[in-house]
Amino acid sequence: MIKENFNAIKEEVTDDVNIIVVTKYHTVQETLEAYSAGVRDFGENRIEGFLEKRKALPEDANVHFIGTLQSRKVKDIASSMTHLHSLDRESVAKKIEQYADDEVKCFVQVNVSEETSKHGLSADDVKPFLMKLAPYSKVKVIGLMTMAPLTEDETVLNGTFSRLKELRDALQKTYPEITELSMGMSNDYKIALDHGATHIRIGSKIMGSR
Ligand SMILES: *Cc1c(COP(=O)(O)O)cnc(C)c1O
Repeated sequence: MIKENFNAIKEEVTDDVNIIVVTKYHTVQETLEAYSAGVRDFGENRIEGFLEKRKALPEDANVHFIGTLQSRKVKDIASSMTHLHSLDRESVAKKIEQYADDEVKCFVQVNVSEETSKHGLSADDVKPFLMKLAPYSKVKVIGLMTMAPLTEDETVLNGTFSRLKELRDALQKTYPEITELSMGMSNDYKIALDHGATHIRIGSKIMGSR
């Protein structure tokens, strides 16, 4: 089923869209099945799951860290994560600089909907944050990430994703290297794609529900 699910989504997106398959609720065996189906980008949101999947997967797989990362845990994964989707604190950048062997591609997480329960910076705080990151040569910010509210209200979802895109477009005047948009999950990726998502993070729709 994983292969059929992955192929179905692949057919819905253009070649420039990266499908990150979120394996956080699934076993190593299921993750390897996804690899066999052609998946090369995996997403994990906890250190333990990240390390377990990283160890099991071949080297040509990218394992993206998509969850909240405590700065004291950065050293555990700094040299094995290819992408971090949740950068929102300088303390994390500092630890990446200290512990990573190579540069880590990062997305700054933005709390577009301003829900108090969500992590991420408010839109206004992103530019000052980027200025603070300038000294960290291993922290390569390539884009912005957001999580939309848990709703089926398309007006809310359209608003969230279009605001992240507008913010990216505005920042590009100063930071032309910020080109990517990590947004869209199983229930809202089609709307995210309408607004130019370059990275969609799909769990249940490919791996099945837990
Ligand atoms: C779990 C998770 C996803 C995937 O969620 P699904 O609804 O299963 O597709 C995407 N992004 C983040 C940050 C997650 O934690």
